[in-house]
Amino acid sequence: MVKAVFPGSFDPPTYGHVNIIERARSIFEEVLVVVAVNPGKHSVFSPEERMEFMRDIIAPWPNVSLYMYDSLIVDFARKHNCRVLLRGVRSVQDFSYEFELSVMNKGLDPDIETFFMPTDSKYFVLRSSAIKELASFGGDVSTMVPPMVEKALQRFHPDKNNEAGHRTK
Ligand code: ADP
Repeated sequence: MVKAVFPGSFDPPTYGHVNIIERARSIFEEVLVVVAVNPGKHSVFSPEERMEFMRDIIAPWPNVSLYMYDSLIVDFARKHNCRVLLRGVRSVQDFSYEFELSVMNKGLDPDIETFFMPTDSKYFVLRSSAIKELASFGGDVSTMVPPMVEKALQRFHPDKNNEAGHRTK
């Protein structure tokens, strides 16, 4: 029986992340979702908000647990007796970044393996950063993120008075 750690910023979580967790939970005995807190990396949502989103998402699944962690993910995995780090891959660009990260993590702890899971084709365009930008222009993100996240993204909505644009000439 194998347990997997699924770490990420989840700023905010999207249906792409949800899909990876849902598929992984039917393969692994347990999936430990880790909201990574990195003071050097700016996040729009606080760690507590990201935890709240994730708690809501994983609530129906008994073999998925949730943690917040602010240090090396291989250390977290070792402490929890997990030998698998799970990462989602949307594109060749993702793969190249994820591959380098996996080599680095392997150097830190050779006993821990990274498993890559390709995104479902329905979700390959979903990117937290693009969704935040779309929401800031008032775009409909309801098919991209869970309802709780959609609601939280409303705080970035544009000034409604600007809907027709400003004529400058
Ligand atoms: P990080 O900052 O650690 O990259 P993210 O929250 O952006 O955290 O992503 C966490 C993991 O989920 C990463 O492996 C990322 O590639 C993967 N991921 C993000 N969006 C998707 C998606 N739409 N489909 C599949 N995997 C995804």
